[in-house]
Formats: sequence, structure tokens, C-alpha cells
Amino acid sequence: MARDRSGKKGLIFNIQRYSIHDGPGIRTIVFFQGCPLRCPWCANPESQGPVAPLTWVKNGKKETISRWVTVDEVMNEVRKDEIFYSSSGGGLTLSGGECLMQPEFARNLLKAAKDEGYTTAIETAGGIANHHFKKVIPYVDETLYDLKIMNPLRARAVIGENVDLIKQNFETALAEPNTHVTPRVPLIPGYTTLPRNLEQIADYVLELGISEIHILPFHQFGMQKWNYIGQEYTMRNTPLLTNDEVNNIHHYFAMRGIDAIISGLE
Ligand code: SF4
Repeated sequence: MARDRSGKKGLIFNIQRYSIHDGPGIRTIVFFQGCPLRCPWCANPESQGPVAPLTWVKNGKKETISRWVTVDEVMNEVRKDEIFYSSSGGGLTLSGGECLMQPEFARNLLKAAKDEGYTTAIETAGGIANHHFKKVIPYVDETLYDLKIMNPLRARAVIGENVDLIKQNFETALAEPNTHVTPRVPLIPGYTTLPRNLEQIADYVLELGISEIHILPFHQFGMQKWNYIGQEYTMRNTPLLTNDEVNNIHHYFAMRGIDAIISGLE
């Protein structure tokens, strides 16, 4: 089936319990299938592309990795850790892929979680139409928002990103009184860590009165998945950042008046 615009069903590829990286407290993360971007460093490359079921070949075996689920089915999983949410302020996080590519299902799920008293969070790169973004954001307590490549031509060429749209949705989130926004910058050597890009990120957030961001050092955890989906992982030979390099980036932002918290994994 194609994307369910009624929001009764959504296509996901994983539910992960006991996460502490993706919003406050202990959380359950629901990974949505589909992403309009194509970041070469992506840790979940199986999610890239349209909202459509995908198969991959793992250890010589063909597997369907995504499944259609209802709000109730997801909430049954989420409820299993209710006891941890109340003691830690945790709850439900929607991730992906780009969870907002299925805005109706995302909204219904977030509403259901809020109705049961859980905190809600999304991880987004904001690459969806603003009218869809606006449908969802009032139901999100914590918006973890990626800022990646700020040069419009380069963003378009490298990851298929429309920087104007990313900025429009980011500013929509900032204007929403019900959500707290955490800007996150994945530190990807040769892409987002170029001095001019860091400078553009600093200029942009300062212009909006933001003085705290999270920075997420590059990792290669998704490497095997690129093999499974039959695509080349072009970041194979990209070295991880050294502590000094990460600290230098932290220092650069500090000099610009921005506290760049070194954070978990994208
Ligand atoms: S936005 Fe996230 S999920 Fe989408 S391609 Fe980039 S890293 Fe992967």
C-alpha cells in the first residue's frame, strides 16, 4: 500500500526500547520508513527514499525490513516501559528516516502518547513541506532538529536538501510554544565540518537568538547496512574525528558565544 493519508497506519522499520540519546529520560524510539534526503553518512540508509516497503539481502537471505503498523500496535509496545517513563521523564521519540514524511501517522502517534501522559520527541531534518510540518509540531515536546550543510547549492547537490525549506521549518518549530527545539549538527568530515559551513551554522543560529546546540561526531555504525541494500558506502575511508578535532569545533562555537554540547549519535 502507498502512504496512508488517514494516518491510521504507518510504515516503520524498527522499534527500539531503552534509548537515552534521543530526548529526555528513557525512551522508546520508532523508526519511520522513508526519507527525502540522501546523506552519504546515513546510519539508516535503508530508510532513504519513498514511504514504501523495502527488502535487503543480509547474509545471503532476502528480508523485508519495514512493516505497516497501527497506532494501537505501536502504543502497545510503548506502554511496556511506562514505569521507566514516569521515573525518568521519558516517553516516545519518532525517528527514521524522516518521521514527518508520514505526517498524519506521526501526529496520531504523538497525540496518543501525550494522551497517556508520556513526553514526545521527534528527530527530524525538516525536509518536508511546511504545511505538513505545522500539522505535527504542536504535539512534540522536544524537537531534535538537524542542521547539516548550509550552502544551498552544495546541500542540494550532496544530500538533496532545500536549505530554504529546512530554515522555514526550523523557524516554525522555534515559533511553536509547545515544543522545545534542540539544533543538532552532525560533524561529518569534508561536509558539515568545513570551516565555512560551521561559520554559516553559527551565523544562522545566532541570528535566531540561539546560544546552545548539540554536535554529534561522525561514526560508521551504518556501514554494513549499505552492503545489505546493495549500495556503496562512500564514507568507508573517512577517518573518525579525533578528540582534538571535536574540541576545536566546540571551541570555535564557544568563541562565537554558542555552547556546543558534544552529544550522542545521529
Ligand atoms: S536525514 Fe537522516 S535518515 Fe535521512 S538520509 Fe540523512 S542521515 Fe539518513
